[in-house]
Formats: sequence, C-alpha cells, structure tokens
Amino acid sequence: MGLTGRMLTVGIVGAGPAGLSAARLLEETGRARAVIFEKDERVGGKSFSTPRYGSMHDIGTCYSMLAHATTNRWMKELRIPQRPIDRQMVDGVPVIRYILGGKPFTTASETLRFFRAWETQMRAFEERPDDPDVRQTAAMPVGDWIDAHGFPSMRRYMQRGLTNMGYGYLDEAPTVQALRWCGPDLLISGALKRIKAPEKGWQNFWERISQRLDVRLGQPVEEIRRGNDGIDIVTPAGATRVDALLIAAPLDELMHALRLTAAEQRVIDAVKWDRLCASLAAIAGWRRNDDIVIYEDALKSGAPPGVLLSSRVAGPPPKKQDRHGTRFFMCFQYAGSLTNADLAAKLRRDVEQRGGYLDHLAVQKVWKFSPRYDADALRDGLISQMRAMQGDERTWYTGATFSFEAVSNIVEFNRKLAPEMVRQLEAMRR
Ligand SMILES: Cc1cc2nc3c(=O)[nH]c(=O)nc-3n(C[C@H](O)[C@H](O)[C@H](O)COP(=O)(O)OP(=O)(O)OC[C@H]3O[C@@H](n4cnc5c(N)ncnc54)[C@H](O)[C@@H]3O)c2cc1C
Repeated sequence: MGLTGRMLTVGIVGAGPAGLSAARLLEETGRARAVIFEKDERVGGKSFSTPRYGSMHDIGTCYSMLAHATTNRWMKELRIPQRPIDRQMVDGVPVIRYILGGKPFTTASETLRFFRAWETQMRAFEERPDDPDVRQTAAMPVGDWIDAHGFPSMRRYMQRGLTNMGYGYLDEAPTVQALRWCGPDLLISGALKRIKAPEKGWQNFWERISQRLDVRLGQPVEEIRRGNDGIDIVTPAGATRVDALLIAAPLDELMHALRLTAAEQRVIDAVKWDRLCASLAAIAGWRRNDDIVIYEDALKSGAPPGVLLSSRVAGPPPKKQDRHGTRFFMCFQYAGSLTNADLAAKLRRDVEQRGGYLDHLAVQKVWKFSPRYDADALRDGLISQMRAMQGDERTWYTGATFSFEAVSNIVEFNRKLAPEMVRQLEAMRR
C-alpha cells in the first residue's frame, strides 16, 4: 500500500504488449492498480493472431528468444507451450553458414570482439548519454559502426537480425537503436536454437495475461486532462480519474488528446515510423519445409520497397497435398509508400521468380512499425531528453519508441519502469 494507505491508480493507454506487461508489473509491486484503455475490441496490438485453415497464424509478433525472459516465464506459468523454430536458411544456405562466411575461426574471434564492443557501447549509451562523442555514435548508421570496428561477419548477422526482421537497412538504422536489438542475446538464441513461438499464438498469450487485469476494450482515449492532483482520461464511456498516466500507444496517435509538452512534441518530431507488410499467402509449387527462408537480395541497402524479405511455412503440413502442392506461407515485405495492390503484385512476381505461384492472399496487413530516431535529434541529445521527460506531468512513456520494437525490449524496459514509477508517485504523496 502507498504511504497514505490508498493504492495508486495508473491509467494506461493501449492494451498492446507494452500496456499489458506494464499493468501486470505495476500490480506485482502490490502498491498500484492499473486501468487500461484500448481503442480496439481486442487486446494484443501488434501481437495479432488469426485462425485459418485449421491452425493459428501470427500476422504480427512471431518469435520469442532468450531475451524474452519475462514473457517466457509468464508462458511457463500459464502452461502455454512454445514450439521451436529451427531451420533458418538464407537463399538455400543455413543461416549460421551464411554468417560464418566460410571462416569459422575468424568469425569466433570476431564474435568475441563484437560482444565486448557491444557491452562497452551499451554502457556508454546508458551512463554517458550527454557526452558529445556518445551522441555522435548513437546517431551513426549501424553499418558504419560495424565497419569502424572491422566486423564483416557481424554485418551479415545484422542483415539477418535487423534488416530481415523489418528494422531497416544498415546504412539507415541508428547505432543506438540497432544495438538494443542486435546484441549477444539474439546471436546466442539463434546458435542455441532457442527461437520459439507460442503454439496458440501471441494474441492468446496476451488474452490470458489480461484476464486478471482491468482492460476496457473499445474505448479510444479522446482527451487527457493533466492536473497537479491527478489526471482525467476521457473515452466515449466518460472520464476516469487516475493518479498517473502511462502512455503505451504511439505518442503521435494521442496528439489530439493531449495538450503536448515541449518534450512530447520533440519526440513526435524526431520519430519516423516505417511500414512492414505481413501476408498469409497460399502458394503453389514451393515444396519447402524450412521454418524461415531469407532472401539475400532483399538485405542489401538500396533494395526496392516491396521486395520479398523472407517467408516461412505457416501451419502444419496438410494431410493431403493438392496436385500443385499448395501450402500456406507467411511473407514479409517493407511497404514504403506502396499500396496493398502494389505489394501483392510485387509478392506475386517474387514468388514466381522463386519457382512458386501465388494462388491467393488470405490476409495482408501493413503495420506501422519500427520507429526510427532522427540523426540530428540524436546528436541534439534525444536519448537523455526521453529519459528526463519520464514522470513530468504525472506521465510516463513505454512501447517501441521508448525502448525498441520488440516484445522482449519493451517488457524488460517495463520491468525497470514499473517499480520506479511507483517509487516516484509515492514520493510525490509525501
Ligand atoms: C509482422 C511483425 C512481426 C513481429 N515479430 C516480432 C517477434 O518475432 N518478436 C518480438 O518480440 N516482437 C515482434 N514484433 C514487434 C512487436 O509486436 C511490437 O514491438 C509490439 O507489439 C509493440 O507493443 P506496443 O504495446 O508498444 O504497441 P502496439 O502493439 O502497437 O499496441 C499499442 C496499442 O495501443 C492502442 N491504441 C492506440 N491509440 C489508442 C488510443 N487513442 N486509445 C486507446 N488505445 C489506443 C492500439 O490499438 C494498440 O492495441 C513484430 C511486429 C510485427 C508487426
């Protein structure tokens, strides 16, 4: 209980992974309760699963790795089984061979040097965000950082881990963001075959997490009034008074609901969102069983938007293959400013070039994905500004913009944020 004996009430905007995990972690402190407002009629945000052809398909969040320590633990507690994703190929070559580039011994010593450089760099970002040299490195494209260190194999690792997973090309992704995701953990998860996916899909997992939480579906937050004593969150169902606000939806989507502070406006101006297309497609003639297939020509900087990044077999093998061997695949493309029809046409062409035939698209979804920081804003101190604004006007921030566009980063970020939020709110009461 708080010092005055009353539980703190935190209003959370957004019931995606950020909002739901923060709510659970806040409630685990035993001193706060959360009320979550979600505009959609379902929880999960970009963790979105859909049943088709007798199995569940994840159109959004796909995998868990070692870094998903907290969600892996929650899945264990809830007895949610995960299946391994083992076979990853780059243009017909196992991904590990692609990264090694035919030089296993050189790569082993390079990997150790990379782990050390990563550790040192991350510590600098954490401890000295205001140092001009650190800001300069934060803004530098990660490809330049890799080349400056002489890491040719790690370049291939990042093409797989960053570009292929939708986080941008190496000559555009700022080092501070790329290294949050592409660290030792991701590499070790791949090498130890610890990449998994929940069998009933990610959305089902978040539905289970939300069962014990106060989630209000179908309630878009339309207005937020912030005062010294508390905050009113207004949805079509009325106003709710809370002690603190946690924004777990993209900040720009709340532009009209909030009287923006200067810091909030700076973050909105400094962030550019990408678009990533995920399609569940019926494809004939691809008799492949690899879990994930990556196409190398899509990994090179300058590849045109819409080119097929990767595909993976979706769902269990059919009991009886039809004459053409039609099966379902999940396919990923950078969308840029292309329309859904353009993306479908490009997918069809790429599939045909690879010996298949696109029979039909069952689901095609273009996500607002991977917020990228502006390099000038990083050089101007964006990272420390984003830290300093936490708690101003009783408002805290989480989600992809404030950590990284992955459930693991977001949940681990919330593990620190939730107790710190409670501590600061209790201090305000004294
Ligand atoms: C194709 C794809 C594959 C991915 N694969 C992986 C993976 O393998 N592993 C991994 O860890 N991550 C993966 N991710 C990333 C992960 O899904 C996201 O990082 C995560 O969902 C972001 O969580 P969030 O809660 O910050 O945002 P979101 O998931 O976007 O949730 C935000 C929520 O806020 C709600 N909202 C917005 N505005 C309002 C409003 N005004 N009022 C009320 N509610 C509002 C939205 O409806 C939404 O539910 C993938 C994502 C995609 C798209």
